[in-house]
Order: sequence, then C-alpha cells, then structure tokens
Amino acid sequence: MLSPEEAVKFHGHAGPFLAWGYRAGRFATEKLKPNGIKEMSCVAKLPLEIPYTCIVDGVQAGSCCTLGKQNLKVEPGDEVELTFKCNGRILKVAPALDLKRLLLRHGKREAYKLVMKMSENMLFRVVEENGR
Ligand SMILES: [Zn+2]
Repeated sequence: MLSPEEAVKFHGHAGPFLAWGYRAGRFATEKLKPNGIKEMSCVAKLPLEIPYTCIVDGVQAGSCCTLGKQNLKVEPGDEVELTFKCNGRILKVAPALDLKRLLLRHGKREAYKLVMKMSENMLFRVVEENGR
C-alpha cells in the first residue's frame, strides 16, 4: 500500500474523501489480512461524482485493490458503502460521519488531517462482518 503522502500525490490533493477511502482500505487490510495484494477485493458503491469518487483513489492507495487488477469494482449508489472480500470473509463498511459536512466546515486540507487522525470507531460503521 502507499503511504498517506504517496496517496495524496497519486490523487492530486488532500481531502477528507480521499482520506476516508485510504483509512477504509487500511482498516480492511488489517482486519482481513490478505496474503499479497491480489487476495482481497472491493466493491465500492457510491455516488459517481466528485468528491465521493475521491474515495476510490483512497481505497486503491490504502488497500491495493485496484481497477487495473480488477479486484476493485465501482458501482453507482446513493450512499457510500465499501464491501471488501478476502478468502470467504466479508467486511462491509460505511462512513460513520458526514464527510461532506466536515469538508464544508474545515476545508479540504484540515478535513483531510482530521480524518487521518480519527479513531476507526468515529470513521466506520461496520454494516456486515463475517467469517471469523
Ligand atoms: Zn479528491
């Protein structure tokens, strides 16, 4: 996975949606513990517009699930929901906070920093988890 600095460079700017996707990718990697970068896959459901799609770059940087390897699929949805799968295990997460509001209140750079520092409990609502 890329470092947070590399993720920002890859994406082009720091923002809370990129940060959330990145943290979600790391969170899933820590929970599902894939062997190598091909074992885990992700389906990202979200509104197909900026800034929501910034999440996709964060997921790629944080989890190494990528569009090019086809272990990342992006689907349109009204809400943000990421479903990670690895060896029969599933982890489905959604934002536990209002990222858009955070962005409006603090601006891109500050909101990015806040999301990078927040606890996982504040960032993620685990919608589904199985296979333990
Ligand atoms: Zn962005």
